[in-house]
Amino acid sequence: MCGIIGYIGPKNAIPILLNGLNRLEYRGYDSVGVSLINQDELSYLKTKGRVAALEEQLKEKRLQGNLGIGHSRWATHGQPNEINAHPQFDCQKELALVHNGIIENYTSLKKWLKQHGHRFCSDTDTEVLPHLIREYYQGDLLLAVQQALHLVEGAYGIALVFSKEPDKLIVARYGSPLVIGVVARGEYIVASDPTAIIDYTKQVIYLDDGEIAVLTRQGMKIVTLDNVRIDKKIQVVKWNLEEIAKSGFPHFMLKEIFEQPKTITNSLRGRLLVKEKDISLGGLGDWLDRIAKVKRVVIAACGTSWHAGLVGEYLFENIANLPTEVEYGSEFRYKQISIDPSVAYFVISQSGETADTLQSLRKIKQGKGNVFGIVNTVGSTIARETTAGVYLHAGPEIGVASTKSFTSQVTVLALLTLALARRRKTIPLKELESRMIALQKIPQQVASILKQHKKIKALAKKYCRYNNFLYLGRGYNFPVALEGALKLKEISYIHAEGYPAAEMKHGPISLIDRQMPVVVLATDTEDVIYQKVINNIEEIKARQGRIIAIATEGNKQITKLVDEVFYIPKTNGYLTPLLNVIPLQLLSYYIAVQRGCDVDKPRNLAKSVTVE
Ligand code: GLU
Repeated sequence: MCGIIGYIGPKNAIPILLNGLNRLEYRGYDSVGVSLINQDELSYLKTKGRVAALEEQLKEKRLQGNLGIGHSRWATHGQPNEINAHPQFDCQKELALVHNGIIENYTSLKKWLKQHGHRFCSDTDTEVLPHLIREYYQGDLLLAVQQALHLVEGAYGIALVFSKEPDKLIVARYGSPLVIGVVARGEYIVASDPTAIIDYTKQVIYLDDGEIAVLTRQGMKIVTLDNVRIDKKIQVVKWNLEEIAKSGFPHFMLKEIFEQPKTITNSLRGRLLVKEKDISLGGLGDWLDRIAKVKRVVIAACGTSWHAGLVGEYLFENIANLPTEVEYGSEFRYKQISIDPSVAYFVISQSGETADTLQSLRKIKQGKGNVFGIVNTVGSTIARETTAGVYLHAGPEIGVASTKSFTSQVTVLALLTLALARRRKTIPLKELESRMIALQKIPQQVASILKQHKKIKALAKKYCRYNNFLYLGRGYNFPVALEGALKLKEISYIHAEGYPAAEMKHGPISLIDRQMPVVVLATDTEDVIYQKVINNIEEIKARQGRIIAIATEGNKQITKLVDEVFYIPKTNGYLTPLLNVIPLQLLSYYIAVQRGCDVDKPRNLAKSVTVE
């Protein structure tokens, strides 16, 4: 995820680009850059850091022009530094391009381009695009863009300028958003979202996948990759700025909950190779084969990432027959334990900066252990210091209560499990395939759960005044019970506990009465433990507890036992955490809203915990 901005018209482009970048900074903020065309000269400025740093440098190096593009990056490939910042260029630095998304086949394109004499200077996937367009350029920029994009696999929103055609701004989209603001005929602002546009115009055109727009001072045309002309309607933006940054959602947390079909897809993109019955985790390289041979795994993490790690423990053990331990970063770092070089250590962190997880990583490295990262933020300290790793590609998470990172972490752990199971031959290929197909369906199943959000909203209204909640789950869903309870605590300040369902009778059962709603995860009907969970439900009912069950579609029987049921679609048991957590996220969100809590900034909490 990143912010793209572009301008063509009669005005000085710089203030418009900078204003746009400031508005879009919430989308990504690890590095930033602009490029302008003045007469037939291309100039540029890029820097690591935020828009303010670029503004500062622009005071020294004044760029001129009324055609330009800008980018605020959220790295997916290559560390956040000046060279990897966008725009990226062709060899001659005559063509500048900014990109949002991931070019999946960039390695093979880069190899081919190098054979054709192109020289690369960044580690980004993006850099293949300007080179590829230049390779095809024979006097018609649009044609070259069309030919190049035909070869590209993955997702992109791009904007580009070229000094040889100095009156043209070209933008194209496949999978990453782009909006064109129509200020006047011959004056346009393009951006990743309307926040960067509405200071100048509310008239916009939303580009759709497979469309390319050519914007000049004479007007605009929109065509497909095959050059079929498209007439698009101008729409009027009605939202205010604050609403647009949140895409119309009242809070970032809700926006991020609703983003999950997309973010899980991004975590799977190019990795789940169903046809080949294999998983590709490029960031781990050859290490994957070595990890498959270890005797034991240790995962260190904090908070929600720790819960994802615990799901990982069940996955690794049940499917890849790999003994796994999950440690709190804060505990592990001070343990008097020697690091075992025959263990594969994993650290999980959304921000890649979590202090206790980072110190655990350093302890492992000091002990000469191999440590692998599962991190969202590219180029973060943890990502840099690990031996190798897998990125989540979930985009910036702004809501303090983590939601989309959890599902992406579990998705990556599921991918890793299948990759290890294949190498360790712990499951037959047929089973591997059916588990892969089930994983592929998860984004659309998450979307179908989100469509039922009003049911959870109604539940939240009914239960928001209770002051204690219990969350129960077993197996893969014990960690989900912990995560559900954590979400409720974090943002609505209600005391909540997560427990493995059968442990209830060793203590918490004494708390149960009419004042204690109990959320039970009772989804995996085919698993042996399902009946045990039903027994636990009976025990709660016998003590007059109020039960909210999360069950699988079609399970009518459960309605007789519980007060409320929310149904999720059927999936392969090992993936139920990815579906079960969605109603729990929504429940905590709507309860917090009912109680008037500041959802995105809960008291006493901060997003990335960089202190001990
Ligand atoms: N994949 C590109 C990069 O890492 C673009 C990332 C983005 O969307 O910000 O540079």
